[in-house]
Amino acid sequence: MRLLEWQGREILAQAGMAVPEGGLARTPAEARRIAENLGRAVVLKAQVPVGGRGKAGGIRLAQTPEEAERLAQEMLGSTLKGLLVDSLLVVEALHPSAEHYLGITLDRSRRMPILLYSPQGGVEIEEVARRSPELLSRVHVPPLEGPTGFRLRRLLSLAPAPLRPALADAAKKLWHVFTAYECHLAEINPLAEVEGKLVALDAKLILDDDHTPGPQFAGLSEAVVDPLEAEAKAAGMSYVRLDGEIGILGNGAGLVMATLDLVAQAGGRPANFLDIGGGARAERVKKGVEIILKDGRAKVLFVNVFGGITRCDEVARGLVEALRGQNIPVVIRLVGTNEEEGRRILAEAGFVPVRTMEEGAARAVELSKGV
Ligand code: GDP
Ligand code: MN
Repeated sequence: MRLLEWQGREILAQAGMAVPEGGLARTPAEARRIAENLGRAVVLKAQVPVGGRGKAGGIRLAQTPEEAERLAQEMLGSTLKGLLVDSLLVVEALHPSAEHYLGITLDRSRRMPILLYSPQGGVEIEEVARRSPELLSRVHVPPLEGPTGFRLRRLLSLAPAPLRPALADAAKKLWHVFTAYECHLAEINPLAEVEGKLVALDAKLILDDDHTPGPQFAGLSEAVVDPLEAEAKAAGMSYVRLDGEIGILGNGAGLVMATLDLVAQAGGRPANFLDIGGGARAERVKKGVEIILKDGRAKVLFVNVFGGITRCDEVARGLVEALRGQNIPVVIRLVGTNEEEGRRILAEAGFVPVRTMEEGAARAVELSKGV
């Protein structure tokens, strides 16, 4: 479960981290009131569970309460990356002299949490890792030992010396949150330096859905779910939204994961993926395609189905129905039970399936670059 920024921020504040002053607004009038109470310029931040809000226009600066109200009017009810903005975090606008990155996640291959720090925060950490890996330090932390002194010294060797004690303190607090809330990810980006002090300007917490019950989770389970995810779930399928251009439909978690890997390997980026599960009939396939295409973010559809108990003719029928009248480029790989019949149905509707997953991935990526 990914918490919204305002929820994460409250948890960080409870753990003793400094956060900007402000509050949550669900109406323009509330945004105005918060700005009035603060008595200075504010930042309005769309509360949707995705990153990169800054670039997408979900973070706006308002100099006056009137401007805050006007911007809130614009932002509330709009969509950001396909998600409805129904609340805004309104906080004092600070002027950081530097933006750091601090995060803790799980390194599954080492079966251990890993602490991450970069003096170059504010941008996505994946980007730092790609562009300037020398500016990212990573230190594994055995869970029973925690972030001991030598580990923090190693982690923060890249940090400006005067700031190291404050950063070490922030790392310990974040560790506390990470363990107490059973997180997959606890991230502060940017961890801003304001007049020599550290302030958490953003808060991203992803909790393990299978966490042990405890009072700290009270009220948190109601966080916003992706409406498409909910729709898929209600239909007995699983949908996950991602950030790219290629919509992926497959059957079975393993095949779908392999498809994602192939698309990534071919240089493409999935917009989402949907697993129709085993034995899906035409109706369900149709519904699956509808969900994938619904928010318009997928520019290409890549269908990868291996027919076992799932019959290719049923899949083909569902696809043809769902794609009637759509003009999105489609790549289909469909093999297994009743494959011949499936191919015949597709061919009648003008679709020519590819033979292998690799070929399909390459083709889908090619098409996604052309649109
Ligand atoms: P994200 O893009 O969804 O990760 O949203 P963030 O909360 O990280 O905000 C994105 C960027 O907006 C940050 O890196 C900051 O540069 C800027 N920003 C956010 N809050 C403030 C603020 O209070 N003051 C200033 N000056 N910039 C801010
Ligand atoms: Mn951020």
